[in-house]
Amino acid sequence: MIAILGTGIMGLPMARNLRAAGLDVRAWNRTASRAEPLAEDGIAVAGSPADAVHGADIVITMLADGDAVSSTMEDGGALQAMADNALWLQMSTVGIAATEALQALADERKVTFVDAPVLGTKLPAEKGELLILASGPEEAEERCRQVFDALGSKALWLGEAGGGTRMKLVLNNWLLSLTQGLAETIALAESLAVDPSKFLETIDGGPLGVPYAGLKGGMMIEREFPASFPLDLALKDVRLVLEAAGRKQLELPVTRTVESQMERAVKEGHGREDMAATYLASAPART
Ligand code: NAP
Repeated sequence: MIAILGTGIMGLPMARNLRAAGLDVRAWNRTASRAEPLAEDGIAVAGSPADAVHGADIVITMLADGDAVSSTMEDGGALQAMADNALWLQMSTVGIAATEALQALADERKVTFVDAPVLGTKLPAEKGELLILASGPEEAEERCRQVFDALGSKALWLGEAGGGTRMKLVLNNWLLSLTQGLAETIALAESLAVDPSKFLETIDGGPLGVPYAGLKGGMMIEREFPASFPLDLALKDVRLVLEAAGRKQLELPVTRTVESQMERAVKEGHGREDMAATYLASAPART
C-alpha cells in the first residue's frame, strides 16, 4: 500500500496514476476537500497523516515546502505511525537544508529515506511523465520501481540522498532564469512594437527555441495565468537556489534579480497564479 501526503496540483494526479497502475493508495491532504474527489478513483481518503500512513510500504510526501513536510511528518504523527520497514519517498522540493533535516528525522525513526524531487509540472504529472530525480541508499531503488514507473517517464538515481535535491536546484536555476528572461524579452518586444507571437514563431524549432518558451510565453502574451506551477512556490524555489549557492559563497546575480521580480509579482497578489505571472512585474502597461 502506498500513502500519499499532499494532494495539490501535483499530488492529486500522482495519486490517480498510482491507483491506475493497480496499486492500493491512501491519500491525505490538509484541506480535506482537495483530496475527497480521489474517493471516486478507488483511493481511500484518510482524516489525518497518521491514519494515511498506517501499514503503508511507501509514504510519499508531496507538500509545498520543508516546513509543511516536517510538520506533517512530526506534528501530524505520520513519522511515528509509519511501519518500521516502510520507506519515506520525499518528492516535494525543499532544498538542501530541509532535506538534511528530514533525512535526520528519518534516521532517528530508523526508516529508509529517499530524496526524490521531480521535474515536470501539472500536465506531465497527469500523464505520468515526470522526470524523477531520486537519491538514497542503493537497495531502495528497486523498492521504488513500481511507484516511479507509475509517476514518471524516467527516473534517475543520483547517489546518496541529497543528490536528487542538488540536481533539482541546478535544473530549477535554469528554468527560473529562463522564465524571467522570457518575461523581459516579451515585455521588450511589446515595448518596441514587435509582435511577441512573431518572436516566439521566429525561435520555434531553431537553436534558440525551447518548447517551454511557447508554453509560458503564450500565457504572458494572453496575460492569463492558470496555475501549473504557482508563482509563490517558484519564489520558494528561487530562494532555495540562493540558499544553496550561499552555502558555497557563490553569488548568482541573475537569480537575485529573478527573486526580486517574483517577489514583486507575489506582492501584487499573483502568488497563486502560474509562475509565468512574474511577467507582470516587467510588463509594459497596455493601452
Ligand atoms: P500546491 O498545489 O500549492 O499544493 C501544496 C500542497 O502542500 C497542498 O497539499 C497543501 O495543502 C500542502 N501544504 C501547504 N502547506 C502545508 C502545511 N503547512 N501543512 C500541511 N500541508 C501543507 O503545490 P504543488 O504544485 O502540488 O507542489 C507540491 C510540491 O511539488 C512543491 O514542493 C513544489 O515546489 C513541487 N513541484 C511542483 C511542480 C509544479 O509544476 N506544480 C513541479 C515540480 C515540483 P492545502 O491543500 O491544505 O493547502
